[in-house]
Amino acid sequence: MNKLVLLLSILLLATIITGQTGGNSSAPKVVAFVNVNVIPMDRERVLRNQTVLVSDGRVTTIGDAKRIKPPAGTQIVDGTGRFLIPGLMDMHVHLFSDDEFPDALAEDEFKVMIAYGVTTIRFMIGTPEQLVLREKSAKGEILAPTIFAASPHLTGRKQPNGIVVTTQAEARAAVAQSKREGYDFIKVTTFLAPEVYEAIVDEAKKQNIRVVGHADSRSVGLQRALNSRQQIEHLDSYLEALLPETAPVKGSVSDLYVYNPKNWESIDYLDEKKIPELARLTVKANPFVTPTLHLFKLTFGKGRSEESFRAQPDIRFYPQKTVEAWTRASKRYLSTAAPIEKREKYIRIRNQIVKAIYDAGGKIMAGSDTPEWLMLYGHTLHLELIDLRDAGLSDYAALESATKNPAMFLGLSDQAGTIATGKRGDLVLLDANPLEDIANTQKRAGVMIKGQYFTQAEMNRWLDEIAPRFQHALDETK
Ligand SMILES: [Zn+2]
Repeated sequence: MNKLVLLLSILLLATIITGQTGGNSSAPKVVAFVNVNVIPMDRERVLRNQTVLVSDGRVTTIGDAKRIKPPAGTQIVDGTGRFLIPGLMDMHVHLFSDDEFPDALAEDEFKVMIAYGVTTIRFMIGTPEQLVLREKSAKGEILAPTIFAASPHLTGRKQPNGIVVTTQAEARAAVAQSKREGYDFIKVTTFLAPEVYEAIVDEAKKQNIRVVGHADSRSVGLQRALNSRQQIEHLDSYLEALLPETAPVKGSVSDLYVYNPKNWESIDYLDEKKIPELARLTVKANPFVTPTLHLFKLTFGKGRSEESFRAQPDIRFYPQKTVEAWTRASKRYLSTAAPIEKREKYIRIRNQIVKAIYDAGGKIMAGSDTPEWLMLYGHTLHLELIDLRDAGLSDYAALESATKNPAMFLGLSDQAGTIATGKRGDLVLLDANPLEDIANTQKRAGVMIKGQYFTQAEMNRWLDEIAPRFQHALDETK
């Protein structure tokens, strides 16, 4: 054995014994949140004045602050008057670096999410790069949330990052390929012929992979999606399902059909009495629903003016031309949009559907659908939580939608989504109680992810650095 090999072996041994890697060797291994109010999210309760120890990214101890003494060398975080909640999960995310940005900026995108308390994400339109990022994140090679990735979307027409499937054979091949490549879910979007959709569902069952995404009201429809136990995004096809046989219009405003002014006439005919039964059928088929309320309320319900875009606190991440492009898109939509009364009814009925699904035992999942429409990741998730509360969920139920429920859906319940000994120390420290007002998730003191604790002040400096980089990268795009 030559000297170099011997030296390397000793170094390797030292690394194994100390469990530390070079880059991290100065960071304390144990972090203690001292005298903190813990909101474990196993049920609605607050454990007052606790000390929580996190070692190597796992919660090792939760107990009375008077009783628990952090070991020597522990990094102490003062939790006095503060609230500790599980790291947040955003179930509907995309990246600018999927298309517009260079891949190298993905790590910035992840830091933005983390700075807003998001520690787990689900990508809803897969790209091969996302699988690389998922692996790097899992290995700790990059600082990123825990990643789940749905497949490239299966669609009936050519669209970016889509796989066009127009026959049953193509559908089966696309499902098998996505499974082979390692995606976590099969994503479906629009224009799928019924028999093609059925083939996707059947093949996915054989391949043991779940189908998630849109339910095109023209071709698939709610009944077929529910029969297939698909996990549905955006409340697709629900409005169409509320139309009575006798209605003079056949289409409503789910999904892409929201852009068709003719379809807005349907709002007058929607039969709200059908909602409880639809909710019951939903829970029976698949209780997990991601309504993405905020996106649809803001963009297609209220409508967005140039002033409202400019007033966004996250506007500094976007260059002038991106703001202008979205302002134009919004103007275009509003120029043919239905009167505000119809749009308000649209918001109200979507809210009613969410509340009914919740009341029937459904598991609502928070999803932001960022970063489209000038909505920044992380930031928008907090707005979604407020909108879920405004739809009639309690503050606790709203918080469940970004913690416990997604963990259940992702099969992570023994790892994340609640705070308990042995689980991941993915945590958000808040200055105020979110069970009194869900908007308090925006009053963050710090975030812990993968064993590292970052103060909000530190992460705000990341955001200051990243905002101009986003502006520049988006400015470079066509
Ligand atoms: Zn999306």
